Amino acid sequence: MSASDAPVVVVGGGPAGLACAIELRRRGVADVVVLEREQQAGGIPRHSNHQGFGVRDVHRLMSGPRYASRYVAHARRSGARVEQETMVTGWSGVGHLELTRPAGRYMLAPAAIVLATGCRERPRAARLVAGSRPAGVMTTGTVQQLVAFRGQRFDGRALIVGAEHVSFSALMTLTHAGANVVGMVTELPCHQSLAVVRAATRLRYGIPLWTRSTVTAIHGYPRVEEVTLEDLDSGRSRRVGCETVVFTADWIPDHELAVLGGIELDPGTRGTRVDTALRTKRPGVFAAGNVLHGAEPADVAALSGRHAGASVARWLSAHGVWPSAVPIACRPPLHWISPNAVGSAAEAPPRGRFALRSRAFLRGPEIEINQDKRCLWRGTVRRLGPGRSASLPAGWVASVDADGGSIDVALAHPGGRA
Ligand SMILES: Cc1cc2nc3c(=O)[nH]c(=O)nc-3n(C[C@H](O)[C@H](O)[C@H](O)COP(=O)(O)OP(=O)(O)OC[C@H]3O[C@@H](n4cnc5c(N)ncnc54)[C@H](O)[C@@H]3O)c2cc1C
Repeated sequence: MSASDAPVVVVGGGPAGLACAIELRRRGVADVVVLEREQQAGGIPRHSNHQGFGVRDVHRLMSGPRYASRYVAHARRSGARVEQETMVTGWSGVGHLELTRPAGRYMLAPAAIVLATGCRERPRAARLVAGSRPAGVMTTGTVQQLVAFRGQRFDGRALIVGAEHVSFSALMTLTHAGANVVGMVTELPCHQSLAVVRAATRLRYGIPLWTRSTVTAIHGYPRVEEVTLEDLDSGRSRRVGCETVVFTADWIPDHELAVLGGIELDPGTRGTRVDTALRTKRPGVFAAGNVLHGAEPADVAALSGRHAGASVARWLSAHGVWPSAVPIACRPPLHWISPNAVGSAAEAPPRGRFALRSRAFLRGPEIEINQDKRCLWRGTVRRLGPGRSASLPAGWVASVDADGGSIDVALAHPGGRA
């Protein structure tokens, strides 16, 4: 192994990592290296070949592949080194990162690290679905890679499990690749995407959405032939014929490296716990993008990366001040908040707001934020639910007592309207 001494290492070359690198260079950080395990940097948008990227960060509506290549080119032009086919495979949380490349293993000693490793959909195995193990069962990510990089066709019937934004993305890709999508299935009482997306796809494709339903078993071999679909309210089961089953959403942050480095995770997001400057608890280690939580849009991830880049640059020039952070916890039915700690009362979160999710669908709920029974903020949000974040303002951060107890986010009226 040989050693190198790049000052700032960004792990992950998706929108968050690349935007972070660009911001670091813009702020004069001399040596910035982005490490990406795939052959091409750009992250998930590389294979999401449809419109819907870039509105909030580049202020243009772009396709995923164009958006990704634009970020890679911009990062390179900014002077950042983008190292592809380079996976971080080892880290003790202090000191060197171990990198694995086709040519061998290397060690890198960074001055600061930004974790931007993204998130992924939980596959069938993690969802404990019974039955046989045939070909034709995959996640949206796999479908889109097969279609975008190998031009694969999906002839025959397909069933989509999930009804979030990404599930509708799977619907478009499958239909484009020749599949006859027979239905979408969600355990929840309604879809979790924008009403306009559901309405447009219903009009365009006429696909049924089976709510309060779940796939309990997959049958067939060597290819899927049918699934057992259970109605969660009546308990009745029926068989649905299909040759492809696509498990969508149900995100898990790619937090393996954080765990390896002993970085604290948040129990709600299951991602890295960070304060409003996107600092983890470990000095010199920051995190940005979807490694913090289940998937947000790419432009939101990129703006989070930009925010982390600014924080790293400030930290490098302030010679190592690392405040201790007050954690933020959510009470059910609220699910998670991000960022989920406050380090300094003077620092706003990315985009000047917190993202909040709930396990239940709620219209106009009143939210209360307390620290040691002292109310920091109380107000309403328009809607809350699974699969989509609502924004909370961040002005209350200025009133946080840095020496006080943890911050509690809860419904002001737990029995309120649903
Ligand atoms: C099917 C699908 C459709 C979508 N459609 C849209 C859309 O229309 N509009 C929109 O705005 N957003 C969309 N999104 C969301 C968007 O793609 C993500 O929010 C965005 O890519 C997140 O950026 P990121 O940088 O956090 O993570 P990613 O894009 O996932 O990038 C993380 C990168 O880190 C790398 N990595 C991970 N671990 C390591 C390691 N140990 N060493 C080196 N590299 C590592 C990965 O290879 C990856 O390239 C979609 C997502 C999916 C899955």
